[in-house]
Amino acid sequence: MSVFEHPSFDNHEKILFATDEKTGLKAIIGVHSTARGPSCGGCRFWSYDSSADALNDVLRLSQGMSYKNVMADLPIGGGKSVIMKPKGEFDRDALFQAFGRAVEALNGDYITAEDVGVSPTDMMSVHKMTSHVTGLPEGKAASGDPSPVTAEGVFRGIRACVKRATGSEDMTGIRVAVQGAAGHVGSYLCGHLSKAGASLVIADMDPASLQKHHDEFGAMIVDKDVIYDQDADVFAPCALGSVINPDTIDRLKVKMVAGAANNQLANLEMGGELQKRGILYAPDYVINAGGIINVMGEIRGNFDPEWVKGKLAGLEATLGEILDRAENEGRPSNVVADEMARARLEDAAVAKASA
Ligand code: NAD
Repeated sequence: MSVFEHPSFDNHEKILFATDEKTGLKAIIGVHSTARGPSCGGCRFWSYDSSADALNDVLRLSQGMSYKNVMADLPIGGGKSVIMKPKGEFDRDALFQAFGRAVEALNGDYITAEDVGVSPTDMMSVHKMTSHVTGLPEGKAASGDPSPVTAEGVFRGIRACVKRATGSEDMTGIRVAVQGAAGHVGSYLCGHLSKAGASLVIADMDPASLQKHHDEFGAMIVDKDVIYDQDADVFAPCALGSVINPDTIDRLKVKMVAGAANNQLANLEMGGELQKRGILYAPDYVINAGGIINVMGEIRGNFDPEWVKGKLAGLEATLGEILDRAENEGRPSNVVADEMARARLEDAAVAKASA
């Protein structure tokens, strides 16, 4: 397994491989950039087939956090962590405490929070070992589960795309295919969409977990393998990454792709392929920044919901700027967004070096 030569290494400042035999911890923490402040990003708890898969995931995710945080104009850098789910029985509290010790070893260069498979209760276990943790369910500035705010940002992103495509923000009758609809973000997103008058076609791993959405929102449940083939206006990926790939792209019948999942494009070229097919793509890290904005509210102290709201409106403005540039220059929106993010990171690195 190569590290420095890894295609997604991208000059990560630090990568910490943490193991703990007693609890079964195998974790990787990626600190991509601290140019704008301590790196911050969630911890993913997942059954990886190999440590190479875990490394690949953490490198792509932590780079994405640098881009996300800088595009949301937050004074934090980009980092992320993954814990490989142990096979068999394990003590969850002890495992997350061991992870907390690894976070503490980075002396504040990395601040952790929830990501896929991790709950606010897990963050309380981490908190027993380090103060460099957010997304806590209790305490003075606690911001709790970031998912509802992420969902609100994604909803705003979808609505902005719809406005571009139809000339109106009216979501009545707009059909959205939500992948991962039973998840934390997916569930809240379905609520927003339904309230705004959109019709839903939804999929998740276990269709039974979607019955509530069917009853509450009149959503049509489909098998997870056919969510790409739906006659819909928007495809909203809210499960895992790399879902826009050579095997799925030609199955899409939608006009827009906008969702919560990180790293939706399997590779950069997929952005160009979407553009060629006339599909508008809202760069994932731009519209799914609501959760980290919420977390930032906690880091600032004295959690202020009005500040969070202002930042969510800022995401829409940034998306508009990216989509305008992409349209005017005839370039894929993901390429334009990456370019803007990298330029801002370079400016921050120069400012930090000369400070
Ligand atoms: P989650 O684990 O609660 O939800 C993911 C859902 O996707 C689960 O219900 C799971 O069963 C489902 N799923 C997995 N594979 C699937 C497949 N092949 N087809 C259909 N469904 C499938 O996670 P979450 O917190 O809701 O996050 C969802 C995505 O959004 C992730 O990619 C995450 O990194 C990203 N994200 C989350 C937040 C947040 O605030 N939670 C913030 C930014 C980005």
